[in-house]
Amino acid sequence: MSFSAEHFKQQFPLFAQPENRALVYLDNAATTQKPACVIEAISNFYLHANANTHRSSHRLARRATEMVEQVRRDVAGFLGAASPKEIIFTRGATEGLNLLANSLCSQLRPGDEIVLSTAEHHANLVPWQMMAASRDLRLRFVPDVAGVPQFDRIDEVLSARTRIVSVTAGSNALGFRTDLDLLHKALSERDLFWVLDGSQLAAHDLIDVQAMGCDFFVCSAHKFYGPTGIGLVFGREDLLAALPPWQGGGEMIASVDLLASEYAGLPHKFEAGTSSLASIAGLGACIDFLGRQDRAAMARHEQALVQELHQRLHAIPELTLLSTAENNLGIASLIHPRCAAIDLAHWLDGRDIAVRVGHHCAQPLLQAAGHVATLRASVAAYNTRQDIDRFVAAVEEFVAQLD
Ligand code: PLP
Repeated sequence: MSFSAEHFKQQFPLFAQPENRALVYLDNAATTQKPACVIEAISNFYLHANANTHRSSHRLARRATEMVEQVRRDVAGFLGAASPKEIIFTRGATEGLNLLANSLCSQLRPGDEIVLSTAEHHANLVPWQMMAASRDLRLRFVPDVAGVPQFDRIDEVLSARTRIVSVTAGSNALGFRTDLDLLHKALSERDLFWVLDGSQLAAHDLIDVQAMGCDFFVCSAHKFYGPTGIGLVFGREDLLAALPPWQGGGEMIASVDLLASEYAGLPHKFEAGTSSLASIAGLGACIDFLGRQDRAAMARHEQALVQELHQRLHAIPELTLLSTAENNLGIASLIHPRCAAIDLAHWLDGRDIAVRVGHHCAQPLLQAAGHVATLRASVAAYNTRQDIDRFVAAVEEFVAQLD
């Protein structure tokens, strides 16, 4: 197999709409566009199979239930899990991290410690802060240099009281990949829960949770060409089996009486209420779609784009790049000392180039780096060299007119 970005892009109908023909979409770390097969799967679900799952005996309900459980098996393969029982559907990575924070912290005692990093997305920070405040737990942070975590120094914050380590597998603000082998070595012999926020990583790398050695892995489908409204939590079966559910309601019970309930088995005890069924249908199509791509060639293409992006941006006087091209998940994060990032973003928008500006939901990282906001350009496999040309030329033009 090989990979052509132009051919890949043709499968994304948004880019074929008259108003989007000239669009350069470089906001992929926020969310990716959707291929036709994902859009069709969602539409087909509503046209042909719409019913609630697990509850009814009729034909459509059976079909919807079978679809959800098939996609769960597909996801188990996609993430390298040992069993579909290890896959929980949530509304997104944020809900997945809240689920884990609530469920895992219920097992902790006051004074126990949770290790996080300065580079966490707020979704992997705020839920633990809430737990720490309500349960008298202590948050500790991997040592950092200007906000960038030094995972090789994680030992300095691990103690006999560390019960949870929850860190990003790759930064959404600066694009760096976390050295997961290093973390595996540091954590595998310890009696703690290891959570990985894989929201950015899953969009670019093949995931194998068993090889990674983590206990839990969380991501959102919309970052890897899937629909919004659906997130994935992988958890090791033995650990999930021993944990209490987070939310209560229908679907997650075996039986209920007025004063107490018996919970369903795995994974349903963690899936209260009606799931995002149409999004699960879209996710199934997305996994199938990705399975038909040459993922290694896709990754090489993205890597070439991110190298070129950094090389050419480095050549623009005064522009400062906070990201580096090496081991990067497709993100260039930049500032200019003589203009606000938002002004540059507006200029780019005026030229139909979509980027993200702000703290990227990673305020502590940006603060430690001494910045309030950066401009982030993030690539996906449908981006082309022409996209990079247009983006860099527009930045050059903007910087030139500052004089
Ligand atoms: N973690 C990381 C690293 C992210 O980049 C994001 C989204 O930007 C999230 C968590 C939260 O994902 P969602 O908003 O899909 O729940």
